[in-house]
Amino acid sequence: MKKKGFIIIISGPSGVGKGTIIREVLKHKPELKVSISACTREPRSYEEDGVHYHFLPQDVFFEKVKKHEFIEWCEVHSNMYGTLHSEVDAMVNAGQDVILEIDTQGARKIMSEFSRVISIFITPPTFEDLIKRLHNRNTEKKEVIEHRLSMAGKELAAIGEYDFIVVNNEVDQTVNDILTMIDQAKEEFS
Ligand code: 5GP
Repeated sequence: MKKKGFIIIISGPSGVGKGTIIREVLKHKPELKVSISACTREPRSYEEDGVHYHFLPQDVFFEKVKKHEFIEWCEVHSNMYGTLHSEVDAMVNAGQDVILEIDTQGARKIMSEFSRVISIFITPPTFEDLIKRLHNRNTEKKEVIEHRLSMAGKELAAIGEYDFIVVNNEVDQTVNDILTMIDQAKEEFS
C-alpha cells in the first residue's frame, strides 16, 4: 500500500515572512503542494480568490463548518480561517506532501489528529523586526497591525509544541534550513 504524504505545518506570527518563505521553498521543492485555506477576511490588493485563499462570506464559511468540510477552523485576528478536507485529504492519501500555513490553534488540532506531520515555527529575529515588517508591507491598517502584534506573543508561546523552530534572519538561510528540516524529518519517519 502506498504511504500517505506528510502534512507540513508552517506557523509564525503575522509579518514574519511565511508567504515569501513558502514561495521560495516551492522553488526548491516544486513537488510540494500548498493547501489553500478558506477565510472570511477581505482580500488584499494583490490577492486572488482561489490562489491565496478561498475568500468566503461568513455565512458560506459557517455553512461549510456545519457540513464538516473543514479539517480545522478557527478565529484568527477577528476573521475565520479554515483548512478544507478537499484541499488535503485526497493529496495526502495519494502520498503527496502538503504544506499548511496555519496558526497555532489550527496546528495543535492537526498535530493531535494526524501522525505524519512535520511542524515548523518561524520566528522573527526580534520583536522590533516584526513591528517594522508589518508596517513596511503596508497591507493592513494601523489598528489591524496593533491587533496582530498583540497576538504575536500568544503565538510565540506555542513555539515549544513544534518539531522545528527557525529564526528568519535572512530568507535564503531560512529556506535552506526548512528544506533540511523537511528532509531530515521525512528520513526519521521512514
Ligand atoms: P493572513 O490574514 O495574514 O493571511 O493570515 C492570518 C493568520 O491566519 C496567519 O497566522 C495564518 O497562518 C493563519 N491561517 C491562514 N489560514 C489558516 C487556516 O486554514 N487555519 C488556521 N488555523 N489558520 C490559518
